Amino acid sequence: MSLHPVRPKILGFISEEVSAWLVALLVLLAGGILTGLLAWATLNEFHQQLRQRFQLLTNERYSRIEERFEDQEQRLDGLRRFFSNSESVSRAEFDGYTQPLLLRTQAYSFALKVSGAERATFEQRVRDDGLGDFTIRELNAHGELQLAAPRDQYVPVLYSQTQSKLGSPLGYDLLAQPMRRDTLMRADQLNNLAVSQPLHLVSTEPSYARGVLLVAPVIHEGEQQSFGYVAAVISMRQLLADGLPDAFHDYLSVRILDLSTNDQHEVLFESTNEPAPSDLSATRLLRMADHDYQVDILPSEAFMQANHSSVGSIVILGGLLSVLLSALLYVLVSQRQRAVRMVEQRTEELHASEQELRGTHGQLRGVLNAATQVAIIATDLRGVISTFNPGAEQMLGYSSADVIGHMTLENLHLPRELATRSAELSARYGKSIPTCHAMLVEGGEVGGHEAREWTLVRSDGSHLPVNMLATPVLDEQGLWVGHLAICIDITERKRVHEALAARDVLLKKLSAHVPGGIYQFKMEFDGRFSVIYASDGIREIYELEPDVLLLNAEAIFTRIHPQDTTRVRASIRESADNLSPWREEYRVQLPERGLRWVRGEATPEELPGGGVLWHGYISDISDLKRVEEELRALSVTDSLTGIHNRRYFQERLTTEMARVERGGGELSVIMLDIDHFKRINDQYGHAVGDRVLQAVCERIGHRLRRTDVFCRLGGEEFMVLCPDIDGEHAHMLAVELWQGLRGAPVDVVGVVTASFGIASWRTGEGADALLLRADSGVYAAKQGGRDRVEQMS
Ligand code: GH3
Ligand code: MG
Ligand code: MG
Repeated sequence: MSLHPVRPKILGFISEEVSAWLVALLVLLAGGILTGLLAWATLNEFHQQLRQRFQLLTNERYSRIEERFEDQEQRLDGLRRFFSNSESVSRAEFDGYTQPLLLRTQAYSFALKVSGAERATFEQRVRDDGLGDFTIRELNAHGELQLAAPRDQYVPVLYSQTQSKLGSPLGYDLLAQPMRRDTLMRADQLNNLAVSQPLHLVSTEPSYARGVLLVAPVIHEGEQQSFGYVAAVISMRQLLADGLPDAFHDYLSVRILDLSTNDQHEVLFESTNEPAPSDLSATRLLRMADHDYQVDILPSEAFMQANHSSVGSIVILGGLLSVLLSALLYVLVSQRQRAVRMVEQRTEELHASEQELRGTHGQLRGVLNAATQVAIIATDLRGVISTFNPGAEQMLGYSSADVIGHMTLENLHLPRELATRSAELSARYGKSIPTCHAMLVEGGEVGGHEAREWTLVRSDGSHLPVNMLATPVLDEQGLWVGHLAICIDITERKRVHEALAARDVLLKKLSAHVPGGIYQFKMEFDGRFSVIYASDGIREIYELEPDVLLLNAEAIFTRIHPQDTTRVRASIRESADNLSPWREEYRVQLPERGLRWVRGEATPEELPGGGVLWHGYISDISDLKRVEEELRALSVTDSLTGIHNRRYFQERLTTEMARVERGGGELSVIMLDIDHFKRINDQYGHAVGDRVLQAVCERIGHRLRRTDVFCRLGGEEFMVLCPDIDGEHAHMLAVELWQGLRGAPVDVVGVVTASFGIASWRTGEGADALLLRADSGVYAAKQGGRDRVEQMS
């Protein structure tokens, strides 16, 4: 498997190797360009729409102005014809006619031509008609109406219908002012409507005062000369601004220039709102009466605001989208790169673990092949053998090719054994256990972990006893995929086992017929004792069960006589230290049989761990001990008198000498010899002599302390060994014995006397010197006449 597969490219062209930053930057750039293009297109579209909308508004506004101009012309023309076609028009008729016409017109007036000569008459007639203060007037330098100066011709306003609250300037001479006069003249020349140059309107509210005068000559039919004029006083503001949105809401800024005068183009009307800076503009020409006007229309600030461009929003939105998109892509690409890196890392890990697995598999195969003394057999769930190692081939005589896929584990078993086991398991668990599972079931569950002995059948039909451990084989998910049976040839083990069992029986029989007990006794390196083996004979020795001893070896020491315990322990320790054979005779205090003597003998053997193991034998020697003690007593007793003999005296003397030489103290001996004993023998016979000897011993003996040792040295010589007695007390005792003897006559022979010699031990003196001195004492007593006590200094 390749570690570097071909990777798909992001967006079709960006390699994944490229950093996420670069991708994000590219996307941001593309987003920026797209946003720019969109903004540019939107801006173009916006400008076009703006121009179209402006065009529409301009057309509409122009039409409206044109319509109003024409309307003014038509209405004035109507008024002119009203006058032309009437003989005379009264004030009331004039008012009645013009009243409904006062729409966007400040005033309608009728001015009559009056010559200088007719002035007074005219004035009087008008005054008579009801206008009491009527005079022909003109404006003075301050703009106030005053009486007109005398002139040849006057054209005073006769009728006037006005919207102005200032009233009508009746009597105002239109000829008094040059621009008005000029207009009248043009009207006459044209015989048609004429319009004045922009001028300050008389008797008009200041806000409407700027305007023009539209004049038409009134001529009676058939006449050449006009007799008067009708005029429309038009306030430009009223005409052009009324009925339109106010300055703040008007989308257009309108300016009307009067083009009639060549040298200067006077502004007739100008919107109060400022035009917005823009390349949009429209200029039209308009005609009213005899004047040409230029209408300049520009977009106002309100227009620009109402037609706000959405480019800014697009740029912001586009920019935001680009940033978001690039951020998203950055996150996606970086996450994907991380994911790819993780996949690579995981793939490498998998590769490594695959290698490891291969190695392990190889090792496993090696182990399987190397295990020639162990049969390793694996099966699938049906029991069909899938692995049969060389050990199995060697042990069972089949080749793995014959077995794998063809035989089951059951085929290798002894059918009789499987059937028995199957029946046993079925009975135990109350459910049918098939023979093919009998070797797998352990403790009621398939797949136990305890080995069991089975008999397998070799290819040649011979039987092979094995110890088989069958375990379940699980896959990675823990699912059961088969079984693994590991078999060890136990032929040799069985043989050894049987031989051992036979030895055991033999040992048991032997030990049962041998008096005493056989045992194995162990001392750990830390001094703890334990019994490894104890034959039944031990029970009689210690009156303890062998099983109890195996658990608690210290129980033995509760049976050993307290005076012997220390000695026994010390001897065991010595045997352990020197690995010398242990032999000890000691007393045991038994609950039933009381005090008994036993003898233990054991041979030590050093254990590898530092302890010592003894193999030994313990027997009851109580009878032997008793005979021994009897023999001993006989060997130190004088047969005639029953007191101790010379041998015993010598032993005790040696012991006592050792005592005083070692630690000082007192020791005295009293020696006595019967006087003229020969005579008694001679006179009464040897038998009487013997009885005399017995009688003397009796008399001496019952006067002695328990600690004194009374012995017959031989013939008629006796010795008393007195431990812890000094010379003075020995003398006192000797005198007492001397007197006791001579004071108690013996049957047949009468008084028997003896000569006494005393010697007390001196520091540094030997046994022989001590005895010699006692003997010298006796000799001295004999010499002194017998029947006396002599102490040798
Ligand atoms: P003395 O000591 O007073 O000088 O005179 P004695 O007669 O006692 O002298 P002696 O030591 O010569 O004699 C000891 C005799 O004791 C000699 C021997 O026949 C006799 N005698 C030794 N042993 C026995 C014995 O076991 N039984 C009897 N009846 N006589 C014995
Ligand atoms: Mg003697
Ligand atoms: Mg004697």
